[in-house]
Parts: sequence; structure tokens; C-alpha cells
Amino acid sequence: MVDTQMTPHITIWEGCDPQLADAISAFSSEWGPYSTLSRRHSIYSLLRERIDPAWASLFRGIHEWAPKVLDTAWVRYRLDLMMRTRLAGDPALNGTLPFSAIAKGLGFKELDVFLQFVGRAVQAKSKAEGRSKLPNLPRMREMERASRSLDNLRELAIRCHAKKPQRSARGKLNALRGGPYCELCGEATELAGYISVGHWPEEDDDDRLRLSSTYCRSHRPKAPFSNIVQAEYLRARRSRADFEQELERLERQSYARPPAALGLSGDALVDEFIRLLCQQREISIYAPRASSGTPDRQHPPLEARVRKEARSMVDAKISDQKKRILVLLCKGMNQSEAAAQLGMSRQAVSKSIDGIPHTYRLDLCTVHP
Ligand SMILES: [Zn+2]
Repeated sequence: MVDTQMTPHITIWEGCDPQLADAISAFSSEWGPYSTLSRRHSIYSLLRERIDPAWASLFRGIHEWAPKVLDTAWVRYRLDLMMRTRLAGDPALNGTLPFSAIAKGLGFKELDVFLQFVGRAVQAKSKAEGRSKLPNLPRMREMERASRSLDNLRELAIRCHAKKPQRSARGKLNALRGGPYCELCGEATELAGYISVGHWPEEDDDDRLRLSSTYCRSHRPKAPFSNIVQAEYLRARRSRADFEQELERLERQSYARPPAALGLSGDALVDEFIRLLCQQREISIYAPRASSGTPDRQHPPLEARVRKEARSMVDAKISDQKKRILVLLCKGMNQSEAAAQLGMSRQAVSKSIDGIPHTYRLDLCTVHP
């Protein structure tokens, strides 16, 4: 259904503008040392070099409308921003600037939101064209292509947002050290948690040094003023490889257009489990909850939810074999049939699913197409 060409980092979807597809490939193969923090390897300069020309040419088919579409998207984005943050945004920015300038001005997270508005503006134009007396079909195709290409750029924005500098400035204390998420789960790091609630300890306060910029409170190796290594940390540490594997699968699946399976685990049944799970949990960039909106306790950002899901799946010990069993049960097989297909005994199947927490018993959910 979906043809993907995996690059190390960014998926290129079918229907993407070929020039943009090339630009994204080049961008993702070069982006290793680039980051938002580096001066020498500024990610914005790489964007300017690689993506800006493709972004400009993306609208060539609708060149007479492009400024209008981008302006509309920009105005709606600004309104949305004000609703969410009460900030008016930088008056020097507008939607018709080069891609790299918008990225730098907004940050990658907001760039993603803006791109969603561009997508909607393009689709609205395309629908209007479709309703006209004499629809211009080539132009509608151009708009469809632009709309599909925008999804690739959204992924690029999200990947850039998540990208950490290759070499972390260890020992250097600043507000940007570490990422926002715990390395072992989807909770905020202790430091990021402090910053987000505004409890930033004084400049020379020792407290600041004691906050972990790598782990959340429950996964930090040692409690403050203690030499005892915490059990929770050791447990999460041991399952780190599994966590990262599930994280990758879930991340890929979250970019899949429904109903495609994109876990790319190398096993169709495992991929299917990841697909069903993401569908059931609404882990998708296309789910309404994943789009803009203020991230709060009820609606944490997609990245946090993907990370939390990966951690919880690993903690619940949902092995690949259990995933296969669950998928076969979802397909309506009974335990004996599932056992036969997987070459195991019915008792073994029964034992495997015995300990599975209810939240992972997708076969017991009422809806699963
Ligand atoms: Zn954690």
C-alpha cells in the first residue's frame, strides 16, 4: 500500500515531489554532525542549502496561488499560536519566507504545526478547484503532489526537533543540556521537568547540579546524596535495547498513513501488532490528538506518548512471540490454532498470554478491523 524508501532517518512517502525527495535524502545523509546548537554545523544552514530550493519549487505548479496559500496558512497558524500560547509570534516572520528561515524563526515543533496549516490551505484550494465548472486537472494533481510532499516535510521537522547534538557538551552547564525526555522512557528529564514548571534553582545553587539532564526522577541512577544505585534504573537499563527497538517500530508506525503497517520489524505479525496497538492508542501523526493543541497532562505530545508506550510495552514484557500470538487471536483464531501456526503447544500459548496485562490484550478489544 505504502511504498517507503527508508533513509537512516527520514521516510520518503510515495507521491512526494521528486526534487523534494532527493533533497530530503541528501539532507538526511548529511545531517549527522548538524544540530540547532552548533555554529559550524548549523542545521539551518543545511536546510538552506538542501531544502530551500525544493521548498520553493514545490509550489511551482500553483505558482500564481502559492503566496496566497502560504499567507492564508500563516494567518491561521498565527491565530492558532495565540490561542495556544497567547504569544503573537515574531512580527518579522511570514509564511512566504524560505523554509530554513521559517524553521529558525519558529523552531521545529512550531514549524510542524505551520506545515499542517499549509497542508490544509492547499487542500482547501484543491477542493475549490474540484468544485469549479471546469476543474483544471493538471493543477489539481500539482496540489495533490504538494500536499503529499508536505507530509515528508512534517516528518523532517519532527525528526529535526528530536535530533540531539552528536557530541553533548558534557560538564558544560546550561539550560539546553540533555534532551527533554528521559533516555529510558517518555517522562521529562528531571531538569526539563524543573524548567517546565519554572522551578529553576538559582545560578550557583548546588541543586541545579543534582538534577539529572539524562533521566527522569524514577530512572536516575542514584537518588540525590546517595550512593545506592536504584533498582528501577538497573531494570530499565537492562531492557534498554528492547526499549530502543520498540521505540523505533512505534515511531515508524506513527508516521504510517492508516491503515498501513510500517513497523519494519522484519516479521509481518509483529508489524501487525504494532499497527493495531498504534491504532488502538491513537499513536499517529494523523490522529487529531497528535496535531497542534496545548500539550498538557491529558494530551502529551506524540513523542512523549511513543516513548511512554515503548517503555510500558517493555516493562510489561510483551515479547515478539507474545505479539504474534495476540495478533493471531485478534484475527479470530483460538489458542490451539494460534499454537499450530506458531509451532508451539496450546499450553505454551495459554501460559504466554496468562501474564499479559489487560491493556495489551488487543484480542479482547471490541474494535479491530
Ligand atoms: Zn525515565
